[in-house]
Amino acid sequence: MSYDNDNIFAKILRGEIPAFKVYEDDNTLCFMDIMPRVPGHCLVIPKTACRNILDASQEQLSACMATVSKVANAAKEAFGADGITLQQFSEAAGGQEVFHLHFHILPRHEGAKVGPHGVMGDMDEIKANCEKITAVLAKG
Ligand code: 5GP
Repeated sequence: MSYDNDNIFAKILRGEIPAFKVYEDDNTLCFMDIMPRVPGHCLVIPKTACRNILDASQEQLSACMATVSKVANAAKEAFGADGITLQQFSEAAGGQEVFHLHFHILPRHEGAKVGPHGVMGDMDEIKANCEKITAVLAKG
């Protein structure tokens, strides 16, 4: 399967549609999921094209993991979470819906279940949750 330049995350990377940005470096971007399964649910993507784990280069994966590690720790602190769930789906059969590699970061609390799939979040709440994570990142 080939990479589709018009997938929604490619559009976010090009600035064609908005996103609440959590963190950015030369090679990766982290932004909030607009259908959050838990407060603070965010996504890490490489800035260069690849569909998923099956065609990603070692460089793309390494860059993403460095950002996942940074944001996961910040999100854990920002939400007073007990743990983090990291998810990645590859191809439709693997549960993937947007075909630009991404890693889901979900702050988790002991005993709390994740919410339903595909429910649009409240934008003010997502923005506020984004700011909670960026505030921790800003402390360094
Ligand atoms: P997956 O491909 O791993 O199944 O999930 C894609 C994720 O992207 C979903 O969690 C969905 O809520 C999220 N998503 C879909 N469209 C958009 C969008 O336009 N903006 C943002 N920020 N997230 C999106």
